Amino acid sequence: MSDEKNRFGDKLHELEKARENLWAAEQDRKLIEQMRARVKSGQLLCPKCHEALVERSENGVIVMACPKDEGAWLDSVTLKRVLSNK
Ligand SMILES: [Zn+2]
Repeated sequence: MSDEKNRFGDKLHELEKARENLWAAEQDRKLIEQMRARVKSGQLLCPKCHEALVERSENGVIVMACPKDEGAWLDSVTLKRVLSNK
């Protein structure tokens, strides 16, 4: 009897875990959808103010800059080039 109870407990635990995984998968799916929508619209958004980033040239380096001047973003290749050009 107690063995059966334990098995039931295990099943409940598994169910709980499965629910958590479902929830996590749902969150991932939402994030991916948001990213896809951004890519589709061809816009990268500022992570701070969510305005569309604008392309700007700073000292010959193209950066994606926040229109409110909260910052600028570089892709990894550009960043490495800037860092090696001290
Ligand atoms: Zn911003």
